[in-house]
Amino acid sequence: MSRSQLDHEQVNAWLMAVSPRDLLPPRRRDATAPPMSARPADLMSLGVGLALAVAGIERGFVIVPVAGDAMTVRRAVAGDGVYAAILGAIRAERGTGAFRGEAFGRAPDLIDDAEVAIDVDQSNDSIIVGGRAVVKLFPIASPGPHPGLDLPVHLASVGFTSLPAPLGALRWTSPGDDDLVLATASTFLPGAKDGWDWYLDLLVGWLDGEVDDLNAFEPATTLGGICAHMHAAFATASEVFPEPVSAADAATADGWRRSAFAVADEALEVTDGPEGARLAARTEAIRAELDRLGRGTGAVTTQVHGDFHVGQVLQWQGGYAIADFDGNPTAAAAVRGFRDTPVRDVAAFVRSIDHLGRVAQQRRLDRDDAVERWIAASRARFLDAYVRGLDELDASSSFEERLLRPIEVAQACHEYVYAARYLPRWRSVADRAMRALIPMEDR
Ligand code: ADP
Ligand code: MG
Repeated sequence: MSRSQLDHEQVNAWLMAVSPRDLLPPRRRDATAPPMSARPADLMSLGVGLALAVAGIERGFVIVPVAGDAMTVRRAVAGDGVYAAILGAIRAERGTGAFRGEAFGRAPDLIDDAEVAIDVDQSNDSIIVGGRAVVKLFPIASPGPHPGLDLPVHLASVGFTSLPAPLGALRWTSPGDDDLVLATASTFLPGAKDGWDWYLDLLVGWLDGEVDDLNAFEPATTLGGICAHMHAAFATASEVFPEPVSAADAATADGWRRSAFAVADEALEVTDGPEGARLAARTEAIRAELDRLGRGTGAVTTQVHGDFHVGQVLQWQGGYAIADFDGNPTAAAAVRGFRDTPVRDVAAFVRSIDHLGRVAQQRRLDRDDAVERWIAASRARFLDAYVRGLDELDASSSFEERLLRPIEVAQACHEYVYAARYLPRWRSVADRAMRALIPMEDR
């Protein structure tokens, strides 16, 4: 066997022998998902001992970076060179051999090929290559829209600049002729920290008296303006989306309503204990709110960020940038990348301001009143700046304010589901947030 290239049969044998969950990054090993089996589908050779494997699972494909030699094969990590090789393929705009893929873009020349993992909670694998680019690999890819590629390209092309500039992607065509995106590349933003980091530090600093009001509340105002620009850009035509604006018909609005009810039901189902009891006590109030979504007919729909929360706002040397346009990683592939009301993003963001406050409460006990004040002020400033920004950009029709509260309630329900599926300690955040959103006497 040649030492230089990974042998297809060897990789395929490993793919089928290893527990399929081990093909995924830890965050994607959904503990409640039924076991899956992986069928090798394709292999992109990336040089000595490196490859990108594509294997079919029940719905879609797992994309596995592979490193190895004649003796062993394993999931590659930062430093092995898979991500740098993908960027190299993007720069060279080449497919490799019989691989059914195509790389394209305009990746920068690098001084070196060093790979550094981004050390935060992630749903995908984002690796910094050569200090200039971030290569993001999608561990689970499925046919359908590719918002993580299309939305940044659209936004950049209509002049929205608060994002990491898109550099290119690696596409792949399945045997069934479906088009999938396996990886994307964007410019690396030096010093970038996500909002669970910088915004929480700011809030805790304010609670500790180290940050003044002006600085503590500034981000909410600035981000409201950036969100307005993003939504105005989503409503602007480009080559990617020549007709970017539509209106929700009755079926769409009913779909919003029904999926919100389904999330609320699931939240109840997966939440036991005192949190479950408090949620159950709110069922009637929740359902009354969610019911209003059915009357959303006529609301403007566009592309939306789809997973807009403080964690997607990077603060870096150049200011703020919005990242991660893949949509909600927990949503069904069928609805990812679909048009939606921009209110979805607004609601998600103000919810996450609340969540940030809840996390701060766990850091600084006995500061509940101050945190509530910070939440209320930040929320109000974000919404004010957003509405003002839309108005200045002639895009006010994007915001259907009557949908804000019902969508917030739906998202508050979703937090319990997220906690049950991925992050058990999130349950207390979901609980505190829901109690603040729908106050009542709790026993
Ligand atoms: P995921 O889908 O895994 O959440 P993100 O696109 O949100 O992936 O990226 C995860 C993290 O990686 C971000 O929160 C941020 O800290 C960092 N990151 C992503 N893109 C860049 C970039 N272009 N420059 C600097 N850091 C980035
Ligand atoms: Mg993210």
